[in-house]
Amino acid sequence: MTTPAKRDDTGLPEAVTSIRPEVAAFKPYTPGLSIDEIKERYGLSQVIKMASNENPLGTSPLVQATLRSHSDMAFRYVQSGNPKLVKAIARKFSVPENSIVIGNGSDEVIDLLIRVKAQPGQHNIVAFKPCFSMYELQTKFCGVEFRQVPVNSDFSFDWKALVAATDENTAIVFITTPDNPSGYCPPVQDVIDLAKSLPSSCLLVVDEAYMDFAEDETAHSILPKLEAFPNVAILRTFSKSYGLAGLRLGFGVMHPALADYVKRVRLPFSINILAEFAGIAALEDTVFHAETLKITREGRQYLSSELRQAGCTVYPSAANFIMFALPERCPLDAQGIFEALLSRGIIIRPLRSYELAHCLRVSIGSTQENTLFIDAFKEVIRG
Ligand SMILES: *Cc1c(COP(=O)(O)O)cnc(C)c1O
Repeated sequence: MTTPAKRDDTGLPEAVTSIRPEVAAFKPYTPGLSIDEIKERYGLSQVIKMASNENPLGTSPLVQATLRSHSDMAFRYVQSGNPKLVKAIARKFSVPENSIVIGNGSDEVIDLLIRVKAQPGQHNIVAFKPCFSMYELQTKFCGVEFRQVPVNSDFSFDWKALVAATDENTAIVFITTPDNPSGYCPPVQDVIDLAKSLPSSCLLVVDEAYMDFAEDETAHSILPKLEAFPNVAILRTFSKSYGLAGLRLGFGVMHPALADYVKRVRLPFSINILAEFAGIAALEDTVFHAETLKITREGRQYLSSELRQAGCTVYPSAANFIMFALPERCPLDAQGIFEALLSRGIIIRPLRSYELAHCLRVSIGSTQENTLFIDAFKEVIRG
């Protein structure tokens, strides 16, 4: 005999609705229109996406060839621990192999660090506001308090306020440099000073997803100095300058003792076998990477100067995107400009979800995409 499932006041079976309160508080993710939906809605044959900071040159030809030649390996489990990729990363970034934790995107490493370090109901995690949404999502999902400290009005970092928000229960401080969505990139000395002033059990996670786009990496990155700072972990990704966003590959560099704990709890095959081959090829294709940086830096210059000439407030960016506010006498608000550009087949990023409703973020595209965007933008701000 079967007993009917008990129902709650939504009329749904209790077995599917009795979930952790942290989860019930999450808002469902609302994806934007897909490229195909935009084409159909506005009758367009071509749509360009400058919204997710992807590589404007696409996928490296060497990576494509590698993926094709290894496609027959898809039936195999990947080698546990991805030792070949770990070696390649260690060589490329001059860091010890045992300090590297590879993840299914750096998102996975963010999630693992939070779960390894923070005790639900006891610890807190501190970051600036605005910041990358993943820090907040995973912290709250873990039942850990998330504290945010506003950045300065020019989007530079208020270090004093950040340190003041920490206490002996702070498990992690997250900073993003260059920052997303502003593009702000502090001098490395500021990061070093922060690392020296945090409580002793607190880990400083420096998310350097966009660091290689900076003009002068050594002036900004703490990666080469990591061995002097055992309380610091660095995050890097293959999603941006290496053009592998869709394959999901990122990594953290941290003290080997912490790396060892994180690797113990990582799901055994979270990095798939083709992503591992692709990652190794992406590191080998130095021509593609150098070309990406060149195109990005030139595009950044071009877009910044064009947007400024059009009357926008452009925030200086060291990354592969630019945040800007519209001219004072613009006929449309940021959401209106976003929609007007969408109807012309150009997707950029409105920043309402970062609580920056008056700002927009545009990813740096290919030379042609940048020109198309600027031409369309000049048209829509004229009204
Ligand atoms: C894009 C981005 C990443 C990379 O995430 P992946 O999971 O590696 O794709 C990490 N941090 C920030 C701030 C980003 O904008």
